[in-house]
Amino acid sequence: MPLRRCPHCQSHYVRRSSFHRRGGSWFAVFSPYHCRNCNEYFRVVSEKFHVVAVVIGSAAAIVILLLIVAMFVGTVSESFTSPNR
Ligand SMILES: [Zn+2]
Repeated sequence: MPLRRCPHCQSHYVRRSSFHRRGGSWFAVFSPYHCRNCNEYFRVVSEKFHVVAVVIGSAAAIVILLLIVAMFVGTVSESFTSPNR
């Protein structure tokens, strides 16, 4: 777990806090933190979301790559097999 830093006072004296609000799916994305130095609350993109973003990003990249390859192969085979005589 890397040290979190307060964006207000740059203090490392922060604790992960929990806002007890209901039904926020974005809580999976942002982790609430509480600075014990200046008493500010802030949110940090959670590590879990980083992993998910990387997985989704690489999956999207692979899909796009496959689409480009499929399009390229499709046009090549089309120009080869089209009997335009
Ligand atoms: Zn602070």
